[in-house]
Amino acid sequence: MSSFWKQLAPSLMILLCGFVCAQAQDEKPSLILKGDRPLVVDEVTESSDGYWYKRGNVTTFIDRERVVRVEYPKPPAAAEAPEPLEGKGKWQLADAQKVQDFFIAKFKKPLPLTAFGQSDLHTRWGLDHRNGMDVGLHPDSVEGRALIEFLRNESIPFLAFRGPVPGVATGPHIHIGNRSPRVSGR
Ligand SMILES: [Zn+2]
Repeated sequence: MSSFWKQLAPSLMILLCGFVCAQAQDEKPSLILKGDRPLVVDEVTESSDGYWYKRGNVTTFIDRERVVRVEYPKPPAAAEAPEPLEGKGKWQLADAQKVQDFFIAKFKKPLPLTAFGQSDLHTRWGLDHRNGMDVGLHPDSVEGRALIEFLRNESIPFLAFRGPVPGVATGPHIHIGNRSPRVSGR
C-alpha cells in the first residue's frame, strides 16, 4: 500500500502544480493591446506616458498608444457585486495630507489625484464633492490595493469603482471621503 502511494505522489504533485499554476495565471493583470494578443503580466504600474509591466524579473515599458486598456483579475466576490467597494469611517478633506504622505513614502511618487474637493464635473452631476477627493487608480492595481488597505487600516471612508457608473463615476477610480450627497433641487 505504501509503495503505491510513493509511486503516485510525484504525479499528484505535478497535477497539483498544474492546477495551482493555471489558477495563478487567472489572477494576473493583462494588457489589452491594439492589434495584438493580450499580454499577461505579473504586475503593471501606470505612468504618464505608458505602462511599466513586470514578467518574471524583467520590467518593460510599453507606450500608452499601444495599450487599449489594462484588465485586472476580479476577486470572485467582486464579479457579482456591481456596488463599489466601500470603507466606512470619519473623514475631512484636511486629512488628505496623511493619505498623500503614505502614498509618496510607499511608491516614491505623488498620489495621482483627479479631483480635490468640488470639480466642474461634480457640479454638473449635482454632487456635493466639497469634502471628497478622487484618485485615478484602479482598485485592483498594486497601488490601488495598497491604498485601499491603508484607508481601511486608518478607518478612512472610501468608495472604489472598478468601472464607470452613470452620473457618478467616469471610470475606475478610488473616491476618498464619505459618499457625495446629491445637491438638492436635482
Ligand atoms: Zn469622488
